[in-house]
Amino acid sequence: MEGKNTAVVLAAGQGKRMNSKVQKQFLELGGKPLLYYALKCFQDSGLIQEIILVTGAESVSFCKEEIVEKYGLTKVTKVIPGGKERYDSVYQGLLVCRDTEYVLIHDGARPFITEEIIQRGIQGVKKTGACVIGMPSKDTVKIADAQGYVAETPERSSVWTIQTPQIFDYRLIREAHEKIRCRDMSAITDDAMVVEQETGAKIALVEGSYKNLKITTPEDLDIAEIFLKKFDFIS
Ligand code: C5P
Repeated sequence: MEGKNTAVVLAAGQGKRMNSKVQKQFLELGGKPLLYYALKCFQDSGLIQEIILVTGAESVSFCKEEIVEKYGLTKVTKVIPGGKERYDSVYQGLLVCRDTEYVLIHDGARPFITEEIIQRGIQGVKKTGACVIGMPSKDTVKIADAQGYVAETPERSSVWTIQTPQIFDYRLIREAHEKIRCRDMSAITDDAMVVEQETGAKIALVEGSYKNLKITTPEDLDIAEIFLKKFDFIS
């Protein structure tokens, strides 16, 4: 029997680069908390059956009352505390998934995910069990050496910048996390790296959108306000 598609939405970061007293996932965008937008996109998608929200231990009741209940996000079945690093929060989310075939791991700080991205992602994961959403790099990328000089310039056509969601066969990513947890994980910055290091699975690159930005610094929030007014995103 086929299982569910579960979205694990991450909102347990401190958001220090935002320089704000309010954690970035709760800052207002178009009069609603930033985190609302990604949750609402998954809520409205016919491809998603369940949403797990991972947040800071101190923010669990705020999320339940002021976001999940207030906006009628009925697919959010669990709001759980995350961990110190992003991969710890992902692992906590994976532990509470039930009967899941594919898991979509998404940064709550990316409000402009769309139904089309979810559709392409689900198509992509069906090919190899693992895919990441991203876009070809618009900029030339340089690899730096330890002294701050250019060590290498990868050919631009082969460079992608990676976004979320990152989508996996649930058993594949769960087992990869179980294996990697006994090792040094300090260099792990996304979910695909866990699968790259612990399994032989091929990871498909699937086109996202240049608008699917992650709100990290104050200027990103200004851009997000413009996107919200200009494009037909969820309201
Ligand atoms: O810090 P960064 O912008 O890379 O975080 C990406 C996403 O991961 C954010 O949505 C953030 O809330 C989440 N995160 C988390 N737990 C952590 C660190 C980050 O859920 N310990």
